[in-house]
Amino acid sequence: MTDDLEKIVTAIPGPRSLELGEALRSHESRNVTYIARDFPVFWESAEGALVIDADGNRFIDCTGAFGVATTGHANPAVAKAIADQAALLPHGMGDVHPSAIKAELLEALAALLPIGNPKTYLCTTGAEAVEWALKTAFLATGEPYALSFGGAYHGLTLATLEVGGIPKFRMPFRKLLREKTSFTLFPDPRDPKALEKSLDAIGKTLRRDSAIGAVIVEPIQGRAGVMVPPDGFLRGLSGLCKENDVVLIVDEIYTGLGRTGSMFAFEREEIVPDIVCIGKALGGGFPISAAIARGEIAQAWPLSDGEALHTSTFLGNPMGCAAALANLGEIERLGIARIAAEREPLLKDRFETIARFNPAVEHVRGRGMLWAIEFKSATIANTVVLRALQRGLLLLQSGIAGECVTFAPPPIISAGQLRRAFDIVVSIVRDMEAAV
Ligand code: PLP
Repeated sequence: MTDDLEKIVTAIPGPRSLELGEALRSHESRNVTYIARDFPVFWESAEGALVIDADGNRFIDCTGAFGVATTGHANPAVAKAIADQAALLPHGMGDVHPSAIKAELLEALAALLPIGNPKTYLCTTGAEAVEWALKTAFLATGEPYALSFGGAYHGLTLATLEVGGIPKFRMPFRKLLREKTSFTLFPDPRDPKALEKSLDAIGKTLRRDSAIGAVIVEPIQGRAGVMVPPDGFLRGLSGLCKENDVVLIVDEIYTGLGRTGSMFAFEREEIVPDIVCIGKALGGGFPISAAIARGEIAQAWPLSDGEALHTSTFLGNPMGCAAALANLGEIERLGIARIAAEREPLLKDRFETIARFNPAVEHVRGRGMLWAIEFKSATIANTVVLRALQRGLLLLQSGIAGECVTFAPPPIISAGQLRRAFDIVVSIVRDMEAAV
């Protein structure tokens, strides 16, 4: 075993993780962290695609920490930029006396997207970016409702839940929601008629309901289990939005910045969205997100009279801007999109082989370095995640009912680490035959 592979030195979770679990049980709000005898491990440090826990166990990370770590955990250029900025100016007055570095990041983001005269709103979480996008669409069209998709995940704040298509998250709070979003089916990659059926339903809904001002879509649904729509879906959707004067919001918070083999997943379909939301990978681990709108749409906001209608304390935080600038540089220097595209055929081949020989597997799908295995049940998916953890591999359960396991390592993962990750997955999935 070499230093860049997994190494398990205690029972999993180890004694320190169990102790920390008890501390969380005592002090953290009940619904946040799932704590059990066999889950989770507490992370203490990380480097590249490796994570070291509080007991000194080393794991190969195939979660990318929710897809964030594309340029590697603790990327040195990002870490240095944050540390330098922290010593110089850790906080500015985002919308009053902004930091100089905010202007630099806005310029860099404008150059990144094929959007005319782009105007950007900087924020901290993905959900905030989506909230701004929804408000912008409303101001631009005057129409208060949106069309979204079954399985959609755009965050868990109230406005993002309103357009969220996963019942588990909506149901406990439905009385707080307007429940005015029109949901249509996201095209199922397994159904050959899906494209036609989905576009037909969307077209009918948009023509019928003139109070819909926005369509919000993930180019590949992430939380729902990496649902990759058929080719032509985004192009068709974009056409329908134009025909019906509806703002198209493309949520690239999970898929953006190289993970799926192009800088943005929508680029494959050669469309130009009205608004693009990015987050997760933007700050290389520092919380920063952005929504970027076509100038014509963003124009709907009045000029600030000194009291911004939509802002937040940490808008354009200088450390976040420094982290994002350094990380965009790393995404470019390391060729994250190119690596993800080049590795796609290998991942496709390995996952399809897993699907072919294992009856516990229902379906595999993905693009670039974002894949999911759909199992016959959530119980099987959960067992796979737990067994992988025991073996030193971090995986994330996903899917609307928890029936999937997402595989989203940092694209910079070494060939040896990737090979080992597959060996572990293959051997665990093979053992799952007994469970079917
Ligand atoms: N949009 C998508 C596509 C996401 O995957 C997520 C988070 O997983 C969000 C929005 C919400 O981002 P955040 O958790 O940073 O609010």
